[in-house]
Amino acid sequence: MLLSLVVPCFNEEAVLSTFHETIREELKDIGADVEICYVDDGSSDGTLRILRELAAKDPAAKFVSFSRNFGKEAAMLAGLEQATGDAVVIMDADLQHPPELIPRMLDLHLKGHDQVIARRSREGDKRFRSFLSSSYYKLVNRWVDVELVDGVGDFRLLSRKALDALLSMREYNRFSKGLYSWIGYDSVLFEYKNVTRELGQTKWSFGKLLNYALDGLISFNNRPLRVAIYFGLMLSALSLVYTMILVGMAIVQGVQTPGYITIIAAVTGLGGLQMTMLGLIGEYIGRIYYETKNRPHYLVRESTEDHRVPVPQTAAAVSIRETSADMFPRGAGR
Ligand code: UDP
Ligand code: MG
Repeated sequence: MLLSLVVPCFNEEAVLSTFHETIREELKDIGADVEICYVDDGSSDGTLRILRELAAKDPAAKFVSFSRNFGKEAAMLAGLEQATGDAVVIMDADLQHPPELIPRMLDLHLKGHDQVIARRSREGDKRFRSFLSSSYYKLVNRWVDVELVDGVGDFRLLSRKALDALLSMREYNRFSKGLYSWIGYDSVLFEYKNVTRELGQTKWSFGKLLNYALDGLISFNNRPLRVAIYFGLMLSALSLVYTMILVGMAIVQGVQTPGYITIIAAVTGLGGLQMTMLGLIGEYIGRIYYETKNRPHYLVRESTEDHRVPVPQTAAAVSIRETSADMFPRGAGR
């Protein structure tokens, strides 16, 4: 049994060595082979240098380094593609995902679960932030087709089956939390106490979180567009009724000048509404635009593959290759 760890790293020079040591120590007697797939997400600090050193020292450590920062979703995807294990555990480099939980995850996996999910408590989070996130989850779960659970993140174990399912989804706008839930399979969830980050700093600004939240709402269905259509229809019907009333009153009482407020209110209100709906439609079109371009999710600048010393070819190997090339000339019958 081979267990792969996938670790996205963006400017993590402060913790990376400690992380690696901790992991190795913790997984010493786990009863499975371990490989650690690091992904350097275009860090501007010494992360890549540390990864090169780790890979040189420890054959279990592999890495891929991006040409620039592509974001955590792309980094996780690269790590998952690189992983060759029978099961993978995705975890952050900052030790906020306690490595001592991995044996327990593996245990649950061996009992037959395809996804073992660690859910963190919200202890130590800023009160305002945890309020915002719990309201967000309520909203999202009412709107989208997949279920998202508060406190559940990327820290989880996936079986090979679940991993292959995840990798078969090639969409450009990846919202992993939704994808995990979408693939289904037999999942089990357990809770752990939240750990605060000790070294380095968080890469999530408030703006980034807001964008991520919007991705979650829009990635999984077109219900927001439906809402826009219904809302628009309702407003049109209302304004039709209102116009009829006004015309009726004009016929009965003659034309009157007041109504300035009504007009302004209607113009601004409807203007705002139209902008919102346009933005919403634009959001989906933007997504279609990105998907149709079919660009790669990330570009690799350097990886452990480049550093691997090529195996010298023996005379026997060369001659076998030549013979087989003669037997199957290129393009003949294949
Ligand atoms: N990360 C990444 N690319 C990014 C941002 C973050 O690979 O653009 C990695 C980061 O190195 C860390 C993990 O994603 O291993 C989680 O990031 P962070 O700890 O900053 O997030 P938080 O725990 O504050 O939610
Ligand atoms: Mg963190």
